[in-house]
Amino acid sequence: AKTNGKGRCEVFRPSHHAAQLDRERLQADLHQALDRQQFVLHYQPIVDLASEHISGYEALLRWQHPERGLVPPVKFIALAEDSGLIVPIGRWALREATRQAAAWQTQHPGADLRVSVNVSVRQFQHPGLIEDITDALHHAGLDPRLLTLEITESLFVRDTEGTAGKLRQIRELGVRLALDDFGTGYSSLSYLRRFPIDILKIDKSFVSGVGVNAEDRAVIGAIVQLGQTLQLDLVAEGIETTTELTALQALGVQYGQGYHLGRPAATTAHEDLSDRHLER
Ligand code: C2E
Ligand code: CA
Ligand code: CA
Ligand code: CA
Repeated sequence: AKTNGKGRCEVFRPSHHAAQLDRERLQADLHQALDRQQFVLHYQPIVDLASEHISGYEALLRWQHPERGLVPPVKFIALAEDSGLIVPIGRWALREATRQAAAWQTQHPGADLRVSVNVSVRQFQHPGLIEDITDALHHAGLDPRLLTLEITESLFVRDTEGTAGKLRQIRELGVRLALDDFGTGYSSLSYLRRFPIDILKIDKSFVSGVGVNAEDRAVIGAIVQLGQTLQLDLVAEGIETTTELTALQALGVQYGQGYHLGRPAATTAHEDLSDRHLER
């Protein structure tokens, strides 16, 4: 038993150490990534499910690492949150996404393509957030109504007064607010009355069973009713199949997003992005 324990320890330690080293290296690289212009935004269409037209795009951050290739957010967002780097990175994303939306507006006047930008808790709590938003809108010359900020329920846990006040300030700019990953948090639904939310993004965990599973269909049906009562727009996330799409259309969900409708893509031209739309 003793040798077993020792053996396990020796196997475990080096790999644990390697993981720690890797994390430290990544953290060091992350510090320089912004200056070296290694961040890119990919855009995923948000589709009006009734007309199947693209209403806008969600901007999703990627890190073009010189050795590691394209690093997805799951590998570095938490690291950026811990170090506070998420604040300048998020500021860059806001600038870049609003600039892009203004370009779409010039290229496709009247299409009113919206852009959604994810805002993390740390970034939201930073005192400069409102200024970052107004600066980005001003520099891009973008109509604030074309910008949506995506936040999560984790924001509602602490400092509810401060949070509600800040959300109202953002709303007063004309910017819309979407609650991301709706249904996965633990907070009570009463926050939907307390916080000024415009859009619920139904988490993909509910969407994946909707074509085949009566319970999932009932949950989404209830969210549709909630949306109507509270006058919230709904976006279903993670639509991967025709079955899911058809079920969501039948349930009256207004907007959808997912690999089946279009994958996140680096291209910034709306034509190129919409080419892939509903490719089956
Ligand atoms: P999210 O905001 O919930 O974004 C949706 C994620 O689901 C994206 O992953 C997207 O690529 C993926 N997705 C889209 N359609 C499908 C589908 O049909 N099936 C499946 N399985 N996945 C789908 P991604 O781009 O890796 O981003 C992961 C998370 O990283 C995001 O989740 C968001 O929380 C965070 N994130 C991304 N960009 C930013 C950013 O600019 N700032 C901050 N703070 N967080 C970001
Ligand atoms: Ca999101
Ligand atoms: Ca989400
Ligand atoms: Ca998520």
